[in-house]
Amino acid sequence: MPGNSPLWQVPKVELPHAHLVNLQQVLEERLTRISNQFNDVRFATSLAAEDMAVTDGIAKYAKSIRIFTLFTGRLHDQTIQMKTTVENHYGLSIDGVEPQVQDVQAFIAQYGLNGFYDSEEAKKSCCYARKVKPLELALNGAQAWVTGLRRSQAITRNELTFEELDEVRGIPKFNPIFDWSDDDLWAYLAWQQVPLHPLHHQGYPSIGCEPCTRAIRADEDLRAGRWWWLNKQSKECGLHLK
Ligand code: SF4
Repeated sequence: MPGNSPLWQVPKVELPHAHLVNLQQVLEERLTRISNQFNDVRFATSLAAEDMAVTDGIAKYAKSIRIFTLFTGRLHDQTIQMKTTVENHYGLSIDGVEPQVQDVQAFIAQYGLNGFYDSEEAKKSCCYARKVKPLELALNGAQAWVTGLRRSQAITRNELTFEELDEVRGIPKFNPIFDWSDDDLWAYLAWQQVPLHPLHHQGYPSIGCEPCTRAIRADEDLRAGRWWWLNKQSKECGLHLK
């Protein structure tokens, strides 16, 4: 990890109560609109902060939205445990979607278990086998899906809108906290006492697979800990590319 500054920490943010209430009302309105409009809506959660804000909203206002997470086979133990924590906290069920064995075996045979460090092509191939294809299968038959993406997360996300057309699947894709700032996010999570992934308390603002995610310093870009050996334009796993 570069630099000598302290590890990134969960921001302690206080916002006016009226602002937080407005965030909550807008989230409720957005999720209610989605769940009223479609019978089969699915939400893909990584169990990290943004997705926990959306999960909190779904648990309170839109229980018909089905929640799943991608069990890539390379997650931290804390992420596996977090799924249970969230299920117990909200009394809901999260589907764990696993990659197909033959896809993982084919990747390992061609590139090696950790071959994603060697080339961008190998990284894309691993993400395809462990994330993108399982996502395709998990969304098969859905009428719409929901994400926790925000504009301010990354330069690759600064044109996000609430509703997009997922051109790959031909269904709407909703981003109900697309316009939340970092402060909005962390203040809302604290206000609503939403369970936090334990790695957020160990310097991880963003959480993905264990070998491709590291803690960051306070002065680093928030996405610096994801695929840190690649440039900024490559810091996506393919789940949200158009
Ligand atoms: S994040 Fe890393 S380990 Fe996970 S699927 Fe992508 S390349 Fe593979």
